[in-house]
Amino acid sequence: MDSNFWLGTLTIIGIVGCLAGYRLYRGALSPDHELRALIRRELTLLESLPDAIIILDTRMRIRTWNPAAEAIYKFTAAEALGQDVTQLLIELPGTMYPERPTLRLSKGQTWQGRFACLDKHGKKLIISATTNILRNRRGQAIGYIAIDRNVTEQTHLEAQFMHQATLLGAVQDVVIALDRRFIITEWNHVAERLYGYAPEQAVGQVMTQLLRTEQIGEAGEGFSGRLRENGAWQGRLAHYTQAGERVIVSSAISLLFDPKGLPAGYLMIDRDITRQVGIERALEKQNIYLDTLNKTALALIDRLDLDALLETIMERAGSMVDTADACIYLWDQALGEMRVRVGIGYCRRYIGRRALPGEGLSGKVWQSNQTINVRDYPSWQGRAPDTAGDPLHAIMGLPLRSAGRVAGVLCLHYMQPDKYFDESDEFVLARFAELASIALDNAFLFEASQLELRERARVEQRLTELNADLERRVAERTEQLRNQQNQLTAILDAMGEGVIYSENNQIRYINRAMAQMTGYPVEALINQPRDLLMQTRSLKHRSSVGAVRVIVKGQTLRGTTLVQRHDKSEFEAALTLTQLSPDAQNDVLIVRDITEEVQLEGQKAQFIANASHELRTPLTNLKTRLYLINRQPERTTDHLNVIERVTNRMAQLVDDLLDVTRFEQGEIRMMYKTVCLQLLIEEVIELEQPEAQRKQITLETALPSDPVMIEGDPDRLMQVLVNLLINGINYTREGGLVRVTLRQIDHRAIIEVSDNGIGINPEHLARIFQPFFRASEGAGRGTGLGLSISREIIQLHGGQISVTSESGKGSLFSLWLPVHAPERSETEVMLSG
Ligand code: ADP
Repeated sequence: MDSNFWLGTLTIIGIVGCLAGYRLYRGALSPDHELRALIRRELTLLESLPDAIIILDTRMRIRTWNPAAEAIYKFTAAEALGQDVTQLLIELPGTMYPERPTLRLSKGQTWQGRFACLDKHGKKLIISATTNILRNRRGQAIGYIAIDRNVTEQTHLEAQFMHQATLLGAVQDVVIALDRRFIITEWNHVAERLYGYAPEQAVGQVMTQLLRTEQIGEAGEGFSGRLRENGAWQGRLAHYTQAGERVIVSSAISLLFDPKGLPAGYLMIDRDITRQVGIERALEKQNIYLDTLNKTALALIDRLDLDALLETIMERAGSMVDTADACIYLWDQALGEMRVRVGIGYCRRYIGRRALPGEGLSGKVWQSNQTINVRDYPSWQGRAPDTAGDPLHAIMGLPLRSAGRVAGVLCLHYMQPDKYFDESDEFVLARFAELASIALDNAFLFEASQLELRERARVEQRLTELNADLERRVAERTEQLRNQQNQLTAILDAMGEGVIYSENNQIRYINRAMAQMTGYPVEALINQPRDLLMQTRSLKHRSSVGAVRVIVKGQTLRGTTLVQRHDKSEFEAALTLTQLSPDAQNDVLIVRDITEEVQLEGQKAQFIANASHELRTPLTNLKTRLYLINRQPERTTDHLNVIERVTNRMAQLVDDLLDVTRFEQGEIRMMYKTVCLQLLIEEVIELEQPEAQRKQITLETALPSDPVMIEGDPDRLMQVLVNLLINGINYTREGGLVRVTLRQIDHRAIIEVSDNGIGINPEHLARIFQPFFRASEGAGRGTGLGLSISREIIQLHGGQISVTSESGKGSLFSLWLPVHAPERSETEVMLSG
């Protein structure tokens, strides 16, 4: 018992010593300061211990005096604190064993031993004590710690017991006489009462067989050997009663001598100390309990790594109840089940095993929040089915709590069939489990906070990545869209047609052509109603070209309308309206200015009418002449002359028509030669002189004396001059004047044909070079093609033709031609040869 006590105490000291070193490392503090800090921190722990814990400074002055110290020595803390311990608790001379603690202590050794002293009231105490030096991290001594236990009672009891045990023949003890072979010869009534055998049953039996003697403690040679050697033996034995019950006895066996002085047998005196052993065991356990609790408190206090903590809890709990087979289940909130997180010994194989609430021992502990202690596990009804083959004998499950709820279950196992957990184990472990729960709480909190930190960091990282990715994609997409938009804008702006995109009849976009067509700046039309430009909703009514065809083709409408410009003028436009949404909210309108087309169409219609008229008139004329030839054969020559003129004119008309078509299709080629313009003009004057005379119109020329030579197609140039001259004659009243002038300025030959005729209305002036255009209806007999052909010819020569005119006063047509010959192809040069 003593050795266990000391072992426990020693460990406490060791731990406290380490603690002092560990805790006090704060840098350069004075030893006294460090000691104060240690005491302040550990005071609560010290107060609760059952032993007197006395901390002394280096000068042996008392610095702590816990309640246990007060109880043992009767001095109050106020009386003891600050006193020199060697003065307050003077040991009785000669009672200290071993001697001189301070010398040993100064060498850094632990002193343990006994001494006797007097308490405050002069009562003698026997103290079992351990003293150790306290050092800080740097190895400096900062004081001493003494752990004192009052063993006065115990010592008295021990002494008493020894005395009684040696009292031969004491009637309260079992007295058995044996022969030299241990065969029972005497068996008293105390033996009968303790072991259950009557003297008749016992006498004659071999004592060690009858009582199934087991020696307790002392290893090595058995008591029988010692007995033979020394003639006496004293110690503890275990015997079994007739009922099979195990009893522990304190046994004293001594040799008996016969009257001759020879060994005749043995006398054995047994005292039942089963109860005492029980008490001893409980005390022993309590020591271990204290020790373990302290160790645990210290070991667990700073342990934040959950697995390491659980392992420590498991090992400490196991060592308290002497088993190396243990495991801990932890509750998994997410899965709604428990799993073995750590295991040692046989239970290592259980790591990962699951249990549902209510299932098996662990599940029942979890559910009931109560310790469950099963002494005979194989026959226990509540065991989980999957543990059927496990060689477990006894199990105790204890709830480990966190934040008031069961967070796990500590399971301790005994595999040996004769072992089980008793009430004191339960009591001890329950305390332990409470302590472990606090540490577990701490670890959980720490783990949760770590997890949260990691999770937060992970989420932040992911967010940053997502953000960057999003930004990149948005930038890419924006760039793409911008490119597409630029392309689209370029395409739309390059279009000749106007484009309007509208939403709910509100203009959202127009292209450049549309702005130019209408004379509005682009911005002025954005967000304006489209009706500002046109009544597209009533295409038909707004049209100026008679009936407008509105063809519905899917979602596309086609038609024509009048579009109003910024200056309120209007133009005729062809529309293609494409509805983009089924409800016709969004649409795209393509607008084409068809003024010219309409005009052209008008001119063509006019031309066809003219051409028909022109053709019909000479045809009628021809018919008449043919008829007259028959009637007036004497005037055949006259009639044939007229027929010739008429056919010539028809041929001219057909030639003009062909020319216009060929010019339009770019089929006409000039046959260039070197031409003297004076000669050409004179030839034309001569040609048209008769017609002028017929109308009494004077033809005049003003030509320079130096010949003006150009490279040109003489026939085509003649055609131009004839046309201008005939027009002059045609659109000038009788007695008028038509004048042709020629001059050269630099590299330009300039020809002007002027008249003092009817002139041209200013509004027609711009259009008289267009094919089929005739300004003065019926004034002449032209086709409206002459000027248009003339302009084509002059332009093909690299020159220009223009007109100025005043209504009623006359017109001036002027043209210029380059004096330098235009480029010619080889073929043309050869042909013109
Ligand atoms: P046409 O065969 O009708 O003369 P042109 O193309 O030669 O065809 O002329 C076009 C129109 O220009 C004529 O119809 C006439 O109205 C006008 N025009 C041409 N020359 C003159 C002119 N010298 N004086 C007045 N009007 C003219």
